[in-house]
Amino acid sequence: MRVHTITVVGAGVMGRGIAYVSALAGFRTILNDISEEQLQGARAHAEKTSAKGLEKGKITAGARETLLSNYETTTELEAAAAASDMIIEAVPETRSLKKHVLETAAAHAPSHAVITSNTSTISPTELASFTSRAEQFAVMHFFNPVHLMPLVEIVKGLETAPETVAIIQETAEAMGKETVEVNEFPGFVTSRISALVGNEAFHMLQEGVASAEDIDKAIKLGLNYPMGPLELGDLVGLDARLNNLRYLHETLGEKYRPAPLLEQMVKAGRLGRKSGRGVYTYEEESSWVKS
Ligand code: NAD
Repeated sequence: MRVHTITVVGAGVMGRGIAYVSALAGFRTILNDISEEQLQGARAHAEKTSAKGLEKGKITAGARETLLSNYETTTELEAAAAASDMIIEAVPETRSLKKHVLETAAAHAPSHAVITSNTSTISPTELASFTSRAEQFAVMHFFNPVHLMPLVEIVKGLETAPETVAIIQETAEAMGKETVEVNEFPGFVTSRISALVGNEAFHMLQEGVASAEDIDKAIKLGLNYPMGPLELGDLVGLDARLNNLRYLHETLGEKYRPAPLLEQMVKAGRLGRKSGRGVYTYEEESSWVKS
């Protein structure tokens, strides 16, 4: 089966990034969201990111044209799913919401279509059960920012067919990504480590071990991480990070209990870059000042 058309569900931080790499790779890409405003934001993101890429010589004018002509947006999931060979779900990390989206997509997608989720933590076997085509489902886990991060983690559920893994791998590679194949376990490889490190940084900030800047600087320069865990939390979204931790706490135990300071920031609406303030305060998209 060759993939021609991909529907990406959810036009947030991840969905818009996935739609970008998908359309740039030449797939007809339909981005779906319940919010027209999010869809407009996603299109503006695609235009701006590709203009920057062109300016820096990372993409050609022809590639930009291909990208923009392949990029469609809609609030109608049913029709988009019906036209697709692959669906990539990227709605918030809530089981009930994912269940609703996956059930709807599966009810309308053609029988050959592969269905995937960009979940950071949730069991692929459980998500597969919402699609009633478990053999044609796996997690396709992209990283943020999608157009720059080279990895896609493919996480198999109990019944995922080898052919499904092969289709996802081929599609990810066409998008310029490297893949790893992971067996089902909460948090996979990447979220399990990242959530633990990020949560520990919040505990340290709360305990007054060092300032946010110095915690991030120490981890970057002393441990050779490309980003500090607190800046990464702001980039990922503190609500998303908290959701992941709650799930891992529930499934893997006490060491993943979310730090109280993280809970407080989310309650205060400090969600990171996307809300303009998280651990740090953002004056514009690319810069931060001390909070
Ligand atoms: P987000 O909150 O930025 O965006 C979610 C989008 O989904 C919003 O635009 C919202 O309007 C839309 N949405 C909500 N309900 C919908 C519905 N019923 N139908 C269609 N669209 C709907 O979330 P995000 O950070 O992009 O995360 C999406 C998924 O990707 C989550 O499962 C998350 O765990 C995972 N993930 C996130 C990151 C990250 O760095 N943020 C990294 C890897 C994986």
